[in-house]
Amino acid sequence: MSRPTSAIIDLQALRDNFSLAQSLAPDSQSMPIVKANAYGHGTVQTAKALAEMAPAFGVACIEEALELRSADIRQPILLLEGAQSADEVLVAAQENFWLMVENRPQLEAMVNTQLQKPVKVWIKLDTGMHRLGFHPEDAQSVYQQLSSSQNVAKQIVIASHFACADNLTNKFTKQQLERFESAIQTIAKPDILKSLANSAAILGWPEVRDHWQRPGYMLYGNSPFSQPQHNADRLTAVMQFKSAVISTRNIDPGQSVGYTANWTAQRPSSIATIAVGYGDGYPRQAPNGTPVLIQGRRCPLVGCVSMDMITVDVTDLPQPLSIGEPVTLWGPELPVNEVASHCGTIGYELLTRISARVPKIYL
Ligand SMILES: *Cc1c(COP(=O)(O)O)cnc(C)c1O
Repeated sequence: MSRPTSAIIDLQALRDNFSLAQSLAPDSQSMPIVKANAYGHGTVQTAKALAEMAPAFGVACIEEALELRSADIRQPILLLEGAQSADEVLVAAQENFWLMVENRPQLEAMVNTQLQKPVKVWIKLDTGMHRLGFHPEDAQSVYQQLSSSQNVAKQIVIASHFACADNLTNKFTKQQLERFESAIQTIAKPDILKSLANSAAILGWPEVRDHWQRPGYMLYGNSPFSQPQHNADRLTAVMQFKSAVISTRNIDPGQSVGYTANWTAQRPSSIATIAVGYGDGYPRQAPNGTPVLIQGRRCPLVGCVSMDMITVDVTDLPQPLSIGEPVTLWGPELPVNEVASHCGTIGYELLTRISARVPKIYL
């Protein structure tokens, strides 16, 4: 007796995907990125499942890092956007959070705050993304100021982030790599640690093998590429978003389905109503024809997505359909990327939009 909608999270698949990230660059350290509720999979459970294997974790903000500390995760945790105020630098020193330093105010807060313990610092360079980071020309002076501060722990990491690594023929990645390497040259410290690779680079750009890798999306078992890719094809989807049929009906040609009556039957049609909607994070923009898996077959969504329900054309299913029949919205047999491409978005967005109403069941 419960709503049939849930997200089944396969923690062994998560660990296997992490092992793949590690095995592709055995001389690198891999830091699982668990921001945004671990891409919708649950920050704490995800980090706990990887705690034996991961040398550190990466999150977007201090709130996410504190959530992991409250759950007794002991590893260093990198704040990818850095400290947003001087008091966050103080908390970072107490809690062993690592700080990205990507702009002047962060640099000043880092060197001017009175700290009990030094903090591990990553310097972010803007090699072309133009979102965060210092200009590569400033790399040397930023490095000097930070490395001469008592507040900064030894072994600074220099990092940057790729804009187009998910496109394996795009020249931009090589340009970013070159800008990064020439900035590293100006710092001229042989022992400098580097970090560039996100999931797409780990899987598809073997020339990017630095001290630290930062796998996110791939850990959750989906490909960052829109084309098949031999490494990405070895991933297993961690989340199965599932629900069940709660009502069925037959309609005549000319009859419409759902709000705005935007789909009309062209033939005698069987419609199944499923207990999932945009209130659960199923995308409201999903158009007619978006695949929904029932009896192992892709059936087309028809009619608008409602808050709590969707409607699916099951006329072509060979077996009779009954109430209670299980349905997969996405998972190992129906990639979230495939659903996302129907919706004009990416799998990253669909995963992170799973709402709090959906219970997560961990395997
Ligand atoms: C989110 C993020 C990552 C992980 O990216 P994926 O494409 O999910 O692997 C890596 N580095 C930074 C700085 C990020 O913000």
